[in-house]
Amino acid sequence: MEHDAIKGTVPLTFIKPHALPTYPTDTPALDSFGRRIDYMRISLTDRCNMRCVYCMPALGMRFAPRPELLTNDELLLVVGAAAAAGFRKLRLTGGEPTLRQELVELIRAMKAIPGIEHIAMTTNALRLRKLAGPLKEAGLDRVNISIDSLDPVKFRQMSRGGSLDEVWAGIRAADEAGLRPLKLNAVIVRGMNDDEVVRLAELTTRHPWEFRFIEVMPLTGVAGLAEEGVVSTAELIALIEAHFGPLNPYGQDPADPARRYRIPGAPGKLGFISAVTDPFCATCNRMRLTADGRLHLCLLRDDELDLRAAIRSGATQAALEQIIRHAVQLKPWGHGLPEGVLPTLRGMSQLGG
Ligand code: SAM
Ligand code: SF4
Repeated sequence: MEHDAIKGTVPLTFIKPHALPTYPTDTPALDSFGRRIDYMRISLTDRCNMRCVYCMPALGMRFAPRPELLTNDELLLVVGAAAAAGFRKLRLTGGEPTLRQELVELIRAMKAIPGIEHIAMTTNALRLRKLAGPLKEAGLDRVNISIDSLDPVKFRQMSRGGSLDEVWAGIRAADEAGLRPLKLNAVIVRGMNDDEVVRLAELTTRHPWEFRFIEVMPLTGVAGLAEEGVVSTAELIALIEAHFGPLNPYGQDPADPARRYRIPGAPGKLGFISAVTDPFCATCNRMRLTADGRLHLCLLRDDELDLRAAIRSGATQAALEQIIRHAVQLKPWGHGLPEGVLPTLRGMSQLGG
């Protein structure tokens, strides 16, 4: 076993396929805590057409040069290996995934891989007006769209330049294309958009959407903001209930980190993602792939395995499946925020949320 090579915050380990134990290939991948890991979140690029304050620092971002990113063929090799290891659901993210070249064809090819049942995407929607229809037709099932404010000026400030009109056009296009159920995400930052929580929640009284409130997480580049900016789920629920009355809990999906509620009588739902104040590590079912080809084992830790090096030294799909199964085995129980352990290696725009 190469456990020693990956512990702590010394990541980027090149795993030599021949040095791994052999994992059985006839069962889905379970981690060492018995969690079934069947959901891969794939960052297609670390670049973005916005610069949200809670995601990227204003200055000093370094983006990976193109040769460092996995090519489409390499991505398909990884997805084939992941499917063989029992992964069933993919989420495409970024940076901004819609900036990826040949995205429509990539999704079509991913959806054709035996075992891949569901593909979702998290996007800022700026490019969805044109892309929603072709993406749906290619096999994309759903989208989550980020929308942090309903005020165009504040939206522009929080995203450092994004157009709220374009986001709404993207939301409408996604809805019309049938990329449903539509989920909208807002990261709530104290002093920025915490005064809009009720307005955002109110959208669910008029639309059958799920609106998800996300606690800001202390990723590299924005950790200072998170220290002062976290508005807890408890606080958010209190704000919403003060306006709408008690919320009704709504059936929980164990594979979904959001705690779900409904405003009584509303067609839509509310979701609360509380990675900081109420972690959901016990039901974690995910593995992340960075745009530069590292398996990232836990969003809020630095541990990684270098799949790209294995691919570029000729690993077969079967060998990659073994590395993915090994990464699942090495998945840590959970993050270390309560003990003050912060990730230092990558920002959210490199990990995809
Ligand atoms: N560009 C796409 C978007 O914004 O939807 C996808 C990538 S973005 C990194 C994925 C998700 O991470 C978004 O919902 C975004 O709001 C969230 N996010 C970014 N930085 C965050 C932070 N520091 N804490 C919590 N969520 C964050
Ligand atoms: Fe871009 Fe998404 Fe990060 Fe905003 S949250 S800067 S849209 S990657």
